[in-house]
Amino acid sequence: MKRTATAARPPARSKPAPRNSPRGQDPARVREIVKRLERTYPGAKCALHHSNPFQLLVATILSAQCTDERVNKVTPALFQKFPTPRDFATLQQEVLEAEIRSTGFFRNKSKSIIGAARTIVQDFGGRVPETMDELLTLPGVARKTANVVLGTAYGKATGVVVDTHVHRIAQRLDLSREKTPEKIEQDLMRIIPQNQWINFAHQLIFHGRRCCTARKPNCPACSLEALCYSKDKTV
Ligand code: SF4
Repeated sequence: MKRTATAARPPARSKPAPRNSPRGQDPARVREIVKRLERTYPGAKCALHHSNPFQLLVATILSAQCTDERVNKVTPALFQKFPTPRDFATLQQEVLEAEIRSTGFFRNKSKSIIGAARTIVQDFGGRVPETMDELLTLPGVARKTANVVLGTAYGKATGVVVDTHVHRIAQRLDLSREKTPEKIEQDLMRIIPQNQWINFAHQLIFHGRRCCTARKPNCPACSLEALCYSKDKTV
């Protein structure tokens, strides 16, 4: 009998791990990690100040190789002067460069922001698109930025944000042995239930800032210590 196609639904649970997956991906262990992170960082959310999806997109582009604190110092004046995508689309690159200089890599960031604003105006009627495929057509936007916008601005779990903190901690916790953000994201999408993708990334980012720092993780204070066998552990 021929089967009819049904609408795809988000999986309620993580998928089974392949045979050669890291032992850190054991489903019971992953569940416990998710539970402890939720308990430790119940209010974790995006630290970039914004009041609409376009502001979040700009702030996320600015946050590359820069702290969120620095970005939050730059964006209030920036958004006051240039409130809409149309304002950014018509900006001279030199003008934007001067505004965002302190965030670093200001030439590339200016090019990306103006290019993204132009595409949003020309192709999407001035509204930041709500799908991964459309967001990836914007200059300077890769999966990490698209996941931030979709998850935080639109509440859509289409992937897991893999920034430097998520990258480092996923490896320390042996949730992934992959090296690239794209492949680490695929691992996390397979082992974490989809309805937790958004919060899980926020919680790992909080954990990376407050406890599992790059240089000297504070393992004695870590709620995941009993589950962690990283060679970087400080206990
Ligand atoms: S025990 Fe240490 S290395 Fe492991 S997750 Fe916690 S802070 Fe990071």
